[in-house]
Amino acid sequence: MNVSDSERVATTLSARGYEITPSQTEADIVLINTCSVREKAEQKLYSRVGRIRKATGEKPFVGVMGCVAQLEGETLFDKIEGIDFVLGTRAVGRVADALENVFDGRQRYSDLGERERDYDWNVAEEQRYSPYVAFVPIIEGCNKFCTYCIVPFSRGREVSLSGSEIIRQVNDLRRHGVKEVHLIGQNVNSYRPADDSGLERIPGKTPFSRLLRAVAATGIERIKFNTSFPRDFHEDIVDAMEENENLCNWVHLPVQSGSDRVLKEMKRLHTIDRYKKQIDRIRNSPRGIAITTDIIVGFPGETEEDFQKTIELFEYCGFDMAYIFKYSPRFGTPSYKMKDDVTTLEKQSRFIELEKVQKRLQYESLSRYNGKTVSVLGEKLSARSESDLSGHSTCHRVVNFKGGEEFLGKIANVRIVEAKSNSLYGEVI
Ligand code: SAH
Ligand code: SF4
Repeated sequence: MNVSDSERVATTLSARGYEITPSQTEADIVLINTCSVREKAEQKLYSRVGRIRKATGEKPFVGVMGCVAQLEGETLFDKIEGIDFVLGTRAVGRVADALENVFDGRQRYSDLGERERDYDWNVAEEQRYSPYVAFVPIIEGCNKFCTYCIVPFSRGREVSLSGSEIIRQVNDLRRHGVKEVHLIGQNVNSYRPADDSGLERIPGKTPFSRLLRAVAATGIERIKFNTSFPRDFHEDIVDAMEENENLCNWVHLPVQSGSDRVLKEMKRLHTIDRYKKQIDRIRNSPRGIAITTDIIVGFPGETEEDFQKTIELFEYCGFDMAYIFKYSPRFGTPSYKMKDDVTTLEKQSRFIELEKVQKRLQYESLSRYNGKTVSVLGEKLSARSESDLSGHSTCHRVVNFKGGEEFLGKIANVRIVEAKSNSLYGEVI
């Protein structure tokens, strides 16, 4: 979501005549887009501003956007020396106004206001993170208030974009050569637009699966979506994937813990039994759908027994990939007040143990692709070897393959010859 916001900020600024540079030393203005989901992410802001301040030469103006900006607001000016302006998560459309104020000599400018009605969701082609893969936000914010999570406070309540706006964007991207769109949101499957236009009315189907069908009907080559929220994950999503080849065979479904007791404390309001049934449905699909997840180890009160249930769940699900996080208390969340009684050492050892299990499962899952042919979008030249290209399969595995620039932006059939620890290697057939 932050990358997507940055793309639109760059679009707005370049339309106003600013030049975008990736080089911090060349820049007159440095914009830092921040994440506050864990303390470590938040600390990056402090070190980055420190580095800018220490650099020699003329000092650039520094603006902070994103979740830290939204949560801290004007207090950031006192906390970190060297910040000129602060833009909240829904104020990014007014970035040019902020700059004008700062250039006019206004100090400590901040805007934490709401999104403007006519906010422009378009991203200019040259500001896109990739020429072939594009992010399309479909829902913003979160209403779930899991007890550990800061997102509902930093991103506000759920607001869905209208079906017709999303379809318009996807059609536009397709016309401009984009091969793969990622429908993004904190919880994509909680999608519930106020304006249903653009979506076919199909009785009994959730708005999200109707959106998936409508996006599939645009004919764009590949559609991926994340993140899915277990409580709102209904079977009609898998049905839609089975009915439409261009809905890619990958589901990111964060479970957070393998223990019902911990899930209850987290207020996730789903159970392991139900989660396993969802996994069974996805795994039994003939589409060969890859499943990935997020997990938190060391939530307050998590016992060794609870943790072992997480390991058992991993063995059961055989996730194709997992993001494992150590619990990080976030000020303002309900769990911040719970006693953080799992020691740093325990968190670390659980993290290592789970990572070891996941590495084995992941290698097993990757090895299953050996000798198989997967469809890969050539996205960039590989960082490791000049004669290789790197891209993703439909099931979102990183695949490197022999080939040159002629495969950039093309979808190739690649036969897998080697499984590595995090990626696959293959040859175009
Ligand atoms: N909406 C998604 C997740 C968005 S946040 C969902 O509910 O599944 C991304 C991930 O960050 C979460 O899945 C969680 O694993 C992790 N996370 C969020 N808050 C955290 C915290 N306080 N400590 C550690 N990890 C956290
Ligand atoms: Fe955070 Fe829970 Fe919302 Fe996900 S669903 S963003 S974990 S509050």
